[in-house]
Amino acid sequence: METRLKAILGTRPPRSLSCYVNGAWRSGVSRFAKYSPIDGSRIAEVEEAGAALVDEAVAAARAAAPGWRETPLSTRRRLLHRIADEIERRFDAFVEAEILDTGRPESQARTLDIPRGAANFRTFADLVGADSGEFFETETPDGAGAINYTIRKPHGVVAIVSPWNLPFLLLTWKIAPALALGNCVVAKPSEETPATATLLAEVMHAVGLPEGVFNLVHGHGPEATGEFLTRHPGVDAITFTGETRTGAAIMRAAAEGVRPISFELGGKNAAIVFADCDLEKTLDGVARSTFLNCGQVCLCTERVYVERPIFDRFVQGLKERAERLASGMPDDPATTLGPLISREHRDKVLSYYALARDEGAIVVTGGGVPSLGDALDGGCWVEPTILTGLPQTARLLQEEVFGPVAHVAPFDIEEEAIMLANDTRYGLAAAIWTENLSRGHRVARAMETGIAWVNSWFLRDLRTPFGGVRLSGLGREGGAHSLAFYGEPMNICVKL
Ligand code: NAD
Repeated sequence: METRLKAILGTRPPRSLSCYVNGAWRSGVSRFAKYSPIDGSRIAEVEEAGAALVDEAVAAARAAAPGWRETPLSTRRRLLHRIADEIERRFDAFVEAEILDTGRPESQARTLDIPRGAANFRTFADLVGADSGEFFETETPDGAGAINYTIRKPHGVVAIVSPWNLPFLLLTWKIAPALALGNCVVAKPSEETPATATLLAEVMHAVGLPEGVFNLVHGHGPEATGEFLTRHPGVDAITFTGETRTGAAIMRAAAEGVRPISFELGGKNAAIVFADCDLEKTLDGVARSTFLNCGQVCLCTERVYVERPIFDRFVQGLKERAERLASGMPDDPATTLGPLISREHRDKVLSYYALARDEGAIVVTGGGVPSLGDALDGGCWVEPTILTGLPQTARLLQEEVFGPVAHVAPFDIEEEAIMLANDTRYGLAAAIWTENLSRGHRVARAMETGIAWVNSWFLRDLRTPFGGVRLSGLGREGGAHSLAFYGEPMNICVKL
């Protein structure tokens, strides 16, 4: 089908994306190409920040920090609301940038990625406004007493390093609370998704955020922009979302100077499906939790445990849903499945499909690369895949694939399902599907994860704690937890 995006991809010259430092657009030490996962065409030339530009960004943020910290909270909150308004004013440009970088269906960018990005600024502006701190009256031996109260203090300069899978949503999730609490920011988006971050810098400029308060440096991670930033001694705190392995490297960098960190890392999330579930709703829910964003959400389900009496019906129902998914241009209304982010990532996902076969998996559906018969075959498309028949020890059941794939295994009793779901080094999220309310609560509590959903998945309230245990992360963000990370509590004790 001929669509608006298809015409753009075929004709528009690559965009030039710059870094934004101290209120000005800056070139880097070199440029790198960004290719569209839709058809493999070159869509942008991106300026890569070297060590010197990272130095400048951190210095600009340090210089701006005292002024921003002292800016009245009402002014900071007003600016955050203006950022949200301006994102909405440029909504279509953000949607187009996000879908060109990622290939995701336009409907997802319109209903999830970009609205959530704007909502992050409003939510944290409001949460900071409603923050009341803590207060205690303390008895003293002389009988006069003392009072204790807490205030929040920004760290100063916060480095934000973010991934490509939900680029705008995850970047703003950290930028908004950091700014709201009076920190200055140096942000490094993923090299795979530089476009919406650049538009956000335009928004910051347009709303009149003071120079140096927000800085954007593009570039790669190891021995490049990401590492220059996280190792920089002028950075006071680091917040990171991405792979567990990268988190470990950043943790080593943060150890120098004992700097605070907040990590949202990988997952190997389970769904537990009981025979008493509402089967149609559960199948829709598990299909969504497996295939949303082509499986590239940290919360996605990659392991499904199904109570034996409904196992065959469940596998059949999930297969039908996988086969109904339609790959295609993001702005074709019939499209329900986007591509993976890059050729490199597709090679990784396909290597797991091959590994699963070698380990003895039964491929219920998928397992390969679709043929779309036009320019899209130059993109990073992959088939949604359902597997069965692997032992719990198989690598496919232990390692994060980050693609549209789930393995489905039967279980007989509740304790067994809990044991299997928890049998992983990760601990981000779980979903439990049952119409038995007591069981839903009981099994949710038994999950060794940061988040458990009962009869839903990815139902988010931004005030709730978000994060993982074990290899899935360190600390929590969301609501009061974001306030606590970006605004360190300080206690003041006054003797009466
Ligand atoms: P990644 O770790 O490869 O990259 C993330 C960011 O880190 C990028 O900006 C990258 O350039 C940078 N980076 C890489 N190496 C670095 C280094 N040594 N020093 C400093 N920066 C470095 O992750 P990705 O492939 O972009 O994202 C996918 C991963 O993110 C998956 O594992 C997924 O589960 C995880 N994720 C977790 C959450 C969560 O909330 N827990 C959310 C989204 C994604």
